[in-house]
Amino acid sequence: VKTKTGKFLFAILITAVTLALSLNEVIAQNTPPNLQQAGYYHMVLGKFKITALSDGTTPQKLNELLQNAAPGEIERLLRSSFQSTTIECSVNGYLINTGTKLILIDAGTSDVYGPALGHLAENLVKAGYKPEQIDAVLLTHIHMDHMGGIMNGNNITFPNADIYISKPEADYYLNPLNKDKALDAMKRFFEGAEMKLRPIEKAGKLKTFEYDQEIFPGIKPVASYGHTPGHSFFLVESDHQRMLFWGDIVVSDAVQFANPAITSVYDHDSKAAATLRKQALADAAQKGYWVAVSHMTFPGIGHITQNNTGYRLVPINYSNSGIGQ
Ligand SMILES: [Zn+2]
Ligand SMILES: [Zn+2]
Repeated sequence: VKTKTGKFLFAILITAVTLALSLNEVIAQNTPPNLQQAGYYHMVLGKFKITALSDGTTPQKLNELLQNAAPGEIERLLRSSFQSTTIECSVNGYLINTGTKLILIDAGTSDVYGPALGHLAENLVKAGYKPEQIDAVLLTHIHMDHMGGIMNGNNITFPNADIYISKPEADYYLNPLNKDKALDAMKRFFEGAEMKLRPIEKAGKLKTFEYDQEIFPGIKPVASYGHTPGHSFFLVESDHQRMLFWGDIVVSDAVQFANPAITSVYDHDSKAAATLRKQALADAAQKGYWVAVSHMTFPGIGHITQNNTGYRLVPINYSNSGIGQ
């Protein structure tokens, strides 16, 4: 009996070891080389569905990117948010499903910045949509991390979509005379517009808009001059719920919400950008609407509160059902 029991236990041990080894093998086979995150986040806004789409993240040296700060201020504010001077910065786009239209706000980077970025279209598919279903892409501004994704090489990424940008932004960046007058550091934004926006214009799919009138029911562009000459917010409203899409009002919420006077080297008019940031933060904190921000940590959606050290983003509560609150 003893021998039989011993053999039986030995067999169990061998089976367990074999099973553990084969499980390890399965895990090893299914682990991607880099740890990708889910990349999309659904929530409800009135009758609309909003889906945040990650284009990826990219390291940013905030102590070089940000300026107009007191000595050591940027480092101190980053430390107080447990961040180092180089952080992985999110690049977010947003899909609005109005029930009748699928509208994208910003389009990510596509093929421009290498494999860490350029995932927006693939995350759109993972989120349950197809690029050819998109009716319109609304661009907050011309910078490549927002409009790069409208073209993939020579191909139009969203073949059935019109691309919308503010009239002042298109007029400024599609005029070669302005490139000649611009600072050297700013010339590449004109080149980006030629590369990505000009083919869309040639295909007859570029539409410009004026401010403060709806482009689609419930979706209205708001002038937000500063970061670029025709930078636009988009106010989205359904059933009295409001969300303001802020584009590049902020690169680092840890720094620029604490001190909105700190500006970015990419600002076209940094003084105007700082003034706008102060006004926008005060308005959002007072009125309590949702904000969605391109470079705040994914999904970049939340509310703004004010305290004695400035403003702070209260991120959306995670909800697996997509209700979001
Ligand atoms: Zn920008
Ligand atoms: Zn940006």
